[in-house]
Amino acid sequence: MTFADDAILVLVDVSPTGEAAASTPGLLGAAAKIGTPVALIVTDSDPQPAIDAAKAAGAAAVLTAPNDTTALTVPVVDALSAAFDAVHPDAVLISHSIAGRDAAGRLAARRSLALAVDAVGVSRDDEGVIAHHSVYGGAFLADSAATFDPLIVTVREGAVEDRAEAGAADVTELQVTASGAPAATVGEIEAVEQTSSRPDLRGAARVVSGGRGLGSKEKFVLVEQLADALGAAIGASRAAVDAGYIPASHQVGQTGVSVSPQLYVALGISGAIQHRAGMQTAKTIVAINKDAEAPIFEIADFGIVGDIFAIVPQVVEALEARKK
Ligand code: FAD
Repeated sequence: MTFADDAILVLVDVSPTGEAAASTPGLLGAAAKIGTPVALIVTDSDPQPAIDAAKAAGAAAVLTAPNDTTALTVPVVDALSAAFDAVHPDAVLISHSIAGRDAAGRLAARRSLALAVDAVGVSRDDEGVIAHHSVYGGAFLADSAATFDPLIVTVREGAVEDRAEAGAADVTELQVTASGAPAATVGEIEAVEQTSSRPDLRGAARVVSGGRGLGSKEKFVLVEQLADALGAAIGASRAAVDAGYIPASHQVGQTGVSVSPQLYVALGISGAIQHRAGMQTAKTIVAINKDAEAPIFEIADFGIVGDIFAIVPQVVEALEARKK
């Protein structure tokens, strides 16, 4: 196996049923921007769907390795470590998903490599790969780079817009020796039925979020109506979650999910720093709030000062009329 001198190793997140995660095009797009992307697919399912997704997303080469799904994360790190030795990459890009973070941390510890987490972009200069971060609630942009050795980067889902051209990548099965490192044992994997036709919050292109301004769980349906008219995922502030309007899995912010959609609509959300931390890298931010002094307007590209219960139904009506 030979790989390009500027190879970038990309760990593709694969679901237990073998599908590549929605983060794949962004990860490979980021890799293509700084080098030659080599995708690693670790799965105990048929790898073909994930291989096809990696090729379509621009992988110049694909490595596959079997997964042992009874052991948590360690088999993936064993494969990553073997791929690292085979590819000699300039950097390793991994999704900032929960599974990705786990694998990245373990790989960094095992191989004594520098780890840059939650990057919103990558670039390279004469000295190597640089990770770009949005920090302190998006108030500052920070760069990080390794002084020596390749950098491992976890990339925020949905943050990278770059896309690579589809390629006819060679597929190679990687030989992996199990490290025997201690691993938590997975007793059972239970598929949770997705009852919603709405997109997942993580990695969604559009997000409509509601805050305490919605006033009750019943009235939170307004957020759902606008989200459905836009084909958007649903987010919420912590105040809305704490008040029981919506489950905690929808919370956006410092202690919730970080999103980087193309469009983020904030309804009845004041824009506290902890909320902004999770959405400030959205490409276009629209805020509707009856308080003209609300901090959310400081970061909004478009702001409407007014009552959400008067404005949002009109927006929904206009969007529905355009679909006809
Ligand atoms: P509020 O601040 O109460 O704002 C409600 C807004 O709705 C107001 O601006 C009001 O003008 C507007 N409004 C009311 N009625 C209407 C109407 N009819 N029409 C239009 N506008 C209306 N928060 C998060 O969101 N995510 C986090 O991850 C998070 N993590 C935290 C971590 C820590 C350690 C701490 C201390 C706090 C955290 N918070 C987080 C909480 C955060 O500080 C705020 O309390 C929270 O974001 C406020 O939510 P909100 O904007 O919905 O509510």
